[in-house]
Amino acid sequence: VFMDISRDILYLFNWVRKSESASIVNDTVKHIMDHMKKCTECFKDVNELRTGSYYENLKISNPDEFDVMLTVPVERVDIRPFGDVGAFYSVAFKRGKHSLDRFLCEDSTISASGMLTEFRNEVKKCVKILKGVYVYSGCPAVTLLINGTGTVPISLDIVLGLEVRSSWPTLTQGGIDKIDIWLGTKVKKEQKLKGYYLVPKYEGKGTVERDDAWRISFSHVEKSILTNHGSQKTCCEASGTRCCRKLCLKLLKHLLDLLKAENPSLSKFCSYHAKTTLLHACCSRTQDSDWEAAQLGLCFQQLLEDFEGHLKDGMLPNFFIPKHNLLGSGHDRRSCQFLARRIEEERNNGFPIFRKMSTPSIPCRVFVHLCVGLGQTRRKKQIFPGVCFALLSC
Ligand SMILES: [Zn+2]
Repeated sequence: VFMDISRDILYLFNWVRKSESASIVNDTVKHIMDHMKKCTECFKDVNELRTGSYYENLKISNPDEFDVMLTVPVERVDIRPFGDVGAFYSVAFKRGKHSLDRFLCEDSTISASGMLTEFRNEVKKCVKILKGVYVYSGCPAVTLLINGTGTVPISLDIVLGLEVRSSWPTLTQGGIDKIDIWLGTKVKKEQKLKGYYLVPKYEGKGTVERDDAWRISFSHVEKSILTNHGSQKTCCEASGTRCCRKLCLKLLKHLLDLLKAENPSLSKFCSYHAKTTLLHACCSRTQDSDWEAAQLGLCFQQLLEDFEGHLKDGMLPNFFIPKHNLLGSGHDRRSCQFLARRIEEERNNGFPIFRKMSTPSIPCRVFVHLCVGLGQTRRKKQIFPGVCFALLSC
């Protein structure tokens, strides 16, 4: 009981800290937005999009990291894919004058690197007067370190995005269609009306033109379907039953963070791999009853097995662009196999890695759920000895 109380106090303390951090981040973002609107020509129509892990409540480790996308709407544009994968695009204006004309390359496409450089300069300029705010040249984001008095340091990634309000590129076909059997065709149609975003490309080498490409982003759709994730509308609402989809993702992301901290050779793997694995899993186990909160143990086990499968095959299709393999370029076979083995080891040995470090961001009620899950899992199958005990004892 004492452990439960102390964990709840720790959770409350953490929650207060997070709220303070969130308010500092809000003020900083507002300051930057005001500057862009009043003092710049090319970024004057900027909008704010909050879709990072913090806002999706999917973080266990590093609760003081935030990310925000500042987006510039573009209209009458010609969007052409680079290669046949469908993840990268070039953007050209059709006719007339535009506020972004100064970033045009010789071939009339918008230079991602040119626009990002200008964006970074403007951010630097306007945060200069803020006390305790430092700019790091993260790429493609502009990373701010906010070291306010009396608070823990906060890291804030500001990503530049182009907001495209037209139908999705053809290479997205067959991607989101999978949600028909999980969330229904009506939800899919609503999502497809939303348009999409393009962010400066940053991975890979290659020619200058390729480096000046834009990467497509559907983070607003991901946020929306993860928030309203039930096959029944009432899933996780007060009147409905609770599921464990988001908690499974949270735990998978946490496990990946811990494995990466332990082994720097895994740095190429990111939380997007975890999120994509969950989205695919939701389309193969579509019912809310497949993800009952009380079955957290079994569901998490199954999700890990899914992820191991993707790693062993070296194939994890982008949820929105079927031909884009997220384990393709930049991920060698050996590191995929190694990560799959490490996860399997953790799974088979009761997650020793969870025991090694404390996880104060998990409230007591979650631990109770984990316990219930453990009890039921044990009765059904003897395969899940670990995560509940590990999380309870850390
Ligand atoms: Zn739910």
